Amino acid sequence: MNYKRILLKMSGEALAGEAGRGIDFDFTEKVCRGVKQCLDSGIQVGIVVGGGNYWRGAKDGGDRMVRTHADYMGMLATVMNSVALMDTLEKLGAEAVIQTSFDVERVAEPFNPDAALRHMRAGRAVIFAAGSGEPYFTTDTAAVLRALDIRADVLLLGKNVDALYSADPKLVKDAERFSEISYSEVLRRDLKAMDTAATQLAMENHLPLHVFGLRDPENIARAAAGEPIGTIVHE
Ligand code: UDP
Repeated sequence: MNYKRILLKMSGEALAGEAGRGIDFDFTEKVCRGVKQCLDSGIQVGIVVGGGNYWRGAKDGGDRMVRTHADYMGMLATVMNSVALMDTLEKLGAEAVIQTSFDVERVAEPFNPDAALRHMRAGRAVIFAAGSGEPYFTTDTAAVLRALDIRADVLLLGKNVDALYSADPKLVKDAERFSEISYSEVLRRDLKAMDTAATQLAMENHLPLHVFGLRDPENIARAAAGEPIGTIVHE
């Protein structure tokens, strides 16, 4: 079962590949090929990307800067990643538009959910940049908000691990791997699907989450086609 409309969230670090900073173009291209596969099969695609490969407000600037200023830098970092994604998608022959939560008008359109839906219905990927536009939030929360705004069928969470586990599978050999789990169990066990505020918002609004491994970017099309890879979080 293909989803009709998806919101794909990946961290900024995902685009940095092994280096952990900046952009790994070979890997970014593979991710964008996965996105194009979805578009080519008629799935409507929204994307939220983090900014941690450049800057995280609290971690990188918190004790030296006013938090609000440091978080603006983090949100601007997501705009840089979004430009890289748009550029790469266009090189692959896909159409992509960036919408930002605060105006960066030469680079992106202002966020507008109805205009976003029109773009998506015309086969364009819409990249939602600048997070929620508000300091003290994360791009996980922004991803849930945008998924709800565009009435996505699912929020796809591309991660470094291939699924949710009861403990870090690198540290705990017999950690339990979940193929399905409820929001309340994710919160109770403090599993790292998203931060707590984002998971709670998804739960309150019945937004299904699908966690999968982004190391193999072909998983994007698999998850979007509803294949049971990774972990599904729902009621
Ligand atoms: N950020 C913010 N509000 C938002 C989203 C992001 O202030 O709605 C800032 C915050 O400083 C955060 C940074 O942008 O640390 C990068 O986002 P995030 O940490 O979510 O990126 P990721 O870890 O997914 O790469």
